[in-house]
Amino acid sequence: MKKKTKNLVLHIFLISISFCLTYLVLNVYLLNNKYLEVYFVDVGQGDCEYIKTPDNKKIIIDGGDKGKGNKIVKPFLNDLGVFLIDLCMVTHFHDDHANGISEIMDNIDINHLIIPTCKNEFSLHDNLVNKAKIKKINLEYVSANDKVAIDKNIDFNILYAGENYSKNNENNNSIVSKISYGNTSFLFTGDIEKNIEHALLKRRDLMSTVLKAAHHGSNSSSALEILKKIMPEYVIIEVGQNNKYGHPGEKSLNRFNEINAKVYRTDKNGTIKFIADKNGIKKVNVLRE
Ligand SMILES: [Zn+2]
Ligand SMILES: [Zn+2]
Repeated sequence: MKKKTKNLVLHIFLISISFCLTYLVLNVYLLNNKYLEVYFVDVGQGDCEYIKTPDNKKIIIDGGDKGKGNKIVKPFLNDLGVFLIDLCMVTHFHDDHANGISEIMDNIDINHLIIPTCKNEFSLHDNLVNKAKIKKINLEYVSANDKVAIDKNIDFNILYAGENYSKNNENNNSIVSKISYGNTSFLFTGDIEKNIEHALLKRRDLMSTVLKAAHHGSNSSSALEILKKIMPEYVIIEVGQNNKYGHPGEKSLNRFNEINAKVYRTDKNGTIKFIADKNGIKKVNVLRE
């Protein structure tokens, strides 16, 4: 073989080897770099969050109002190839949070259902508990400081679960929970209002990267003193277009502005998706800018 041809063969060989090595290194990197994905699903006026953990566990927190579980949440999950939910959590028993979950329970396999411990006289409470029994879904009641074991990569902590039970204000019985993946965290507040926020102020684990604004951004929630403890980079408001409640409130919006949080809203942005690793938010995708 001529020297020139030998050199060419050697070159091609070396280039192929380096391509293979790069491919291998990239694959190992991608495999080791697992992501946490959190979607704030646009269900109009109501709450629904879908979470895919780094080890591919699927969590739903709330399911929107009547009709939204069937018409929005189920197709949304199926489009993502999701036909089984590992864990469903209902923050409280108002229609715009729990009705959709009741519908999802009829249409999608669910392994665990989490509800607040407190006594509840809502018919939706009985509806969900009975349905869980019939469908053989593992029903769990949680309390403040419980840890939900679902994926060893994340911490899923319950900060509040209606301990200051209020017969007159179901919003204040909402589960407040926090999911952390390394230094990145998401705080889910249901519909709690100012007096529960005040009771939470003494906690040392409020600081979070992303905050789901309590009670659809209403003025009666998101007091400045708790926002200054949470110090979120992002605030998400789950709210319906032109809703009759006037959510979100102008004063709340000003407070989010005051702490320099980037605000996304389901009425304006549609479904909002966060991709996070242990060091922070890698990407935010919205349906509409
Ligand atoms: Zn609500
Ligand atoms: Zn509510």
